[in-house]
Amino acid sequence: MKTIANNKNLNDLGEADIIQFIQEKGPSRLPSHLKKGIGDDCAVLKTDGDRPLLVTTDTLVEGIHFTNQTLSPKALGWKALAVNVSDISAMGGTPHTAFLSLGIKPETNVSFIESFMAGFQAISDKTGIVLAGGDTVESPSFLVITVTLLGDCLPEHVVYRCGAREGDDLWVTGTLGNAAAGLFLLQNKQVAQSSEFKSQIRAHQKPMPPLEVGKALGESGLVHAMIDISDGIAKDLAHICEQSGVGAVLQAAEIPISPRVMKLAAEMGKNPLDWALHGGEDYELLFAASPADRQKIISLTAKVSNIPATRIGKAIRQQGIWLETAKGRDRLGPGGYFHFSRSPAETR
Ligand SMILES: [Mg+2]
Repeated sequence: MKTIANNKNLNDLGEADIIQFIQEKGPSRLPSHLKKGIGDDCAVLKTDGDRPLLVTTDTLVEGIHFTNQTLSPKALGWKALAVNVSDISAMGGTPHTAFLSLGIKPETNVSFIESFMAGFQAISDKTGIVLAGGDTVESPSFLVITVTLLGDCLPEHVVYRCGAREGDDLWVTGTLGNAAAGLFLLQNKQVAQSSEFKSQIRAHQKPMPPLEVGKALGESGLVHAMIDISDGIAKDLAHICEQSGVGAVLQAAEIPISPRVMKLAAEMGKNPLDWALHGGEDYELLFAASPADRQKIISLTAKVSNIPATRIGKAIRQQGIWLETAKGRDRLGPGGYFHFSRSPAETR
């Protein structure tokens, strides 16, 4: 157990150490009603019924996750719930009940709340989620939004981060780097906002997690480990690897990137692979499954989504995340977004 000196600041530690510090203050053994506590996309609580409860919570902070330049009030309402839907999806579950807490500046116009709730309601309607409570408080300077989302799943269909095995295929749903490309456009207003890239802007502002795919994968029993891509695939894959006791090698040429993202990156002198591996906020799914089930995974994901899942690498015995390119195999640093780091790459 690592001891943390009290005289350090949070930005000396970083998010992972802060979580560990908090975790160490919690119970040393999980109580019997808690099947999974801290450390996965959702906590899993046993119930008297046949379906355990999945619980997740996420906070969006003005200036860190969004600005009024990057998200309209309506998009913010959508996204605040979408990021939580993504966590339920990553466990193979179905979301049903939300709690919304707002820390809001007193001078905020009522029309802001109206637009925010229109966005929140739009994704609630689409996913069958009911808002059941929350809190509203005055915030002196920044807008802070916390959503807690409950969902459920049959116990045998819940997928955790910890089950990947050496030799497993690693897969992702959809294409990656869209949200980072959209954020780039929103933060660089001097770049012409061509309608050609509206799906990238939408990926950043109004992500729609692949709920049906997550559910189908959970029900299939084919998936050994799963996580949603919120912080960048390199960082999110590290969670699967750490908790499963494996390493991973990714094939750079297999990372699915849309032709539009490739085009925008080329025009802007950016590396599309950086957006795909480190950009984050794609809210797609990353999962591990046996090579024996390749065909079943392709058929299953193609049945419930327009874009079938893509095999991007393998779980290996050697620790660490590796990226294989034509030039060879290199260690892939996490590179995703780091809360509490001294110099975050950019606001998001
Ligand atoms: Mg997650």
